[in-house]
Amino acid sequence: MLRFHSPFDGKRFIGDKKKMIFHDSHHESIPGRVGGCQIDRIAPENVARFDPDSPAEAIIQGFAPCLDCLWTESSVHE
Ligand SMILES: [Zn+2]
Repeated sequence: MLRFHSPFDGKRFIGDKKKMIFHDSHHESIPGRVGGCQIDRIAPENVARFDPDSPAEAIIQGFAPCLDCLWTESSVHE
């Protein structure tokens, strides 16, 4: 789900600067599941947003796709 509050500001792709992975908010694993995306648990100072808001931009910036929400996302490989 998209989050419209800071620091997410409605961005679809959310990076975790500590783990250097990024998530797709539209396909994130169920919140609270152990080992899932846990986007809500990323510390605000570690949240990365991308402009443009795309997997390609995240990868350019050195982030790896999250295996829980992005492994089926074909656009990652475009
Ligand atoms: Zn994820």
